[in-house]
Amino acid sequence: MPYIEDDLIVISALQHGLFCERQYALIYLEQVWEENRFTAEGEVLHERVHSEHYESRKTYRQEYDMAVRSLEWGVTGKCDLVEVWYTEKGGMIETVLPVEFKRGREKERDVDRVQLCAQALCLEEMFGIGVERGQIYYLQEHRRKNVTLDDALRKKVVDLLERIRKIMTLQKIPAAVYEKRKCDNCSLVEACMPKSVGRGGKNVARYVQAQLAHAGLI
Ligand code: SF4
Repeated sequence: MPYIEDDLIVISALQHGLFCERQYALIYLEQVWEENRFTAEGEVLHERVHSEHYESRKTYRQEYDMAVRSLEWGVTGKCDLVEVWYTEKGGMIETVLPVEFKRGREKERDVDRVQLCAQALCLEEMFGIGVERGQIYYLQEHRRKNVTLDDALRKKVVDLLERIRKIMTLQKIPAAVYEKRKCDNCSLVEACMPKSVGRGGKNVARYVQAQLAHAGLI
């Protein structure tokens, strides 16, 4: 196993790294966190989901809020729901199905699928069987959507883990690159100030001043 407990990256961090590596670094290196409507709604949903209980039926078992980890891939986190299906004869484990609950509708970006796939990598190691698919339940659509955990998606997760690990090793915050669609919906836009910092860290004095003001120091 290549990783130890201290090296593990949390699955919930992947969404930030995929959305914007600078956002990831601000949160995990600088401990900056702002709540906007999107993050607040997401948390409310997860609180509701995580208040549910362990449930058992004849041919499958449902477990909510299951802690998972993979030392092979160096990742850890929690699954909203894991369904473990058994063979009718013999009661052997046949399938392990991770189910992720999400606010709103399916997103264009792969963020939800990436998190689900990271959970599957953990479950594969924990249960010792392949996890070929998972499901995402979108609150606004009131339905579960099947997600095939193919090689392309797995590679995306592994590459992302590598990039995140590099940020942590170098302890360096990537420069801001303003993208209207992304930055205007980012919970850290005020702290990040992508228009002021810009490519290569321009207007640093203005940025530092704004950061001090943001922290209530001037
Ligand atoms: S405001 Fe833009 S550049 Fe800054 S962290 Fe958010 S998405 Fe990244």
